[in-house]
Amino acid sequence: MKRRELLAAGAVALAGCAGEQADCGPGSGPAERFDWKLVTTWPPNFPGLGTGVLKLVEMIEAASGGRLRIKVYAAGELVPAFEVFDTVSSGTAEMGHGSAYYWKGKTEAAQLFTAIPFGMTAMEMNGWMYHGGGLELYQELYEQFNLVPFPAGNTGVQMGGWFNREINSLDDLQGLKMRIPGLGGEVLKRAGGTPVNLPGADIFTALQTGSIDATEWIGPYNDVAFGLHQAARYYYYPGWQEPGPVLECTVNRDAWLSLPEDLKAIVGIACSAINDQMTAEFVARNAQSLDKLRAEGQVEIRSFPPEVLDELRRIADEVLQDLVQRDPAAARIHDSFAAYRESAAGWSAISEQAMLNARGG
Ligand code: CA
Repeated sequence: MKRRELLAAGAVALAGCAGEQADCGPGSGPAERFDWKLVTTWPPNFPGLGTGVLKLVEMIEAASGGRLRIKVYAAGELVPAFEVFDTVSSGTAEMGHGSAYYWKGKTEAAQLFTAIPFGMTAMEMNGWMYHGGGLELYQELYEQFNLVPFPAGNTGVQMGGWFNREINSLDDLQGLKMRIPGLGGEVLKRAGGTPVNLPGADIFTALQTGSIDATEWIGPYNDVAFGLHQAARYYYYPGWQEPGPVLECTVNRDAWLSLPEDLKAIVGIACSAINDQMTAEFVARNAQSLDKLRAEGQVEIRSFPPEVLDELRRIADEVLQDLVQRDPAAARIHDSFAAYRESAAGWSAISEQAMLNARGG
């Protein structure tokens, strides 16, 4: 074949690869196209979370040359936020994005994959997930629900929450009705408060109307986006309840198995990429939003007193012990988590922690 003919043949092959029913080269069959739906627990285009999902989908569509197209539905557009798990499990949507602790009604053990109070930072969670056996346990737990989960975002250390009363001792938590999901909510309950779980979009109105007394959400970037600083006086830190919460992407298992290997790889790589990119975005934007909150001076930004944190940590241990005693799956996951955390803490103490202390302000 002459050079010109070879080039022309190559151009046809390339054009064909982008279309349907095309031959994409030696050993590959027709390039089947997949049109999927992705449902999220986040409000439409919500900064960091909702926009992160849009970036995830853009990456998958670009890397697959349009062979895997995904239409994103924010909370309420196809199903309400807290129906994401069932919707992906049943295959009504092929993908979902949210937080595993929203699904504790399905399996209590799921909470351990989002955040354990006083648990691990984002970097430590990634270490456990990718190199400490966490992801294997996560995928094993979700198999019974016909789901394949991936870490797909992490907000980093959260804030402790918004309050309209000072928190000087555990007595100040008595009777406090607070939006705080997952195991953190269990800790609050045992400390004398009343935890409620609300999807993000409902939090501001609930706080402003007084149907809840307090709330945690994420950190300055997202909390300011909801206007929470206009409905509470005190903003407490640190977010003991969520030190490095993992956001999850779930894929319906049948849909996953129907994908050719290259598209599976693209989905996995894109989830891993957004996992890092979201964390980077939260680091950058939380800092900017905190500066803005401080400059405006409308809210008091305070640390929980050390005695309150000590008490909450003691209660958190009890909550975890009870969980692992009643749920064998949670026990297995917690064993892995606790062993990893013990090892990670030794390294973090003389690396991140020591370096941050040495750096000063
Ligand atoms: Ca939170």
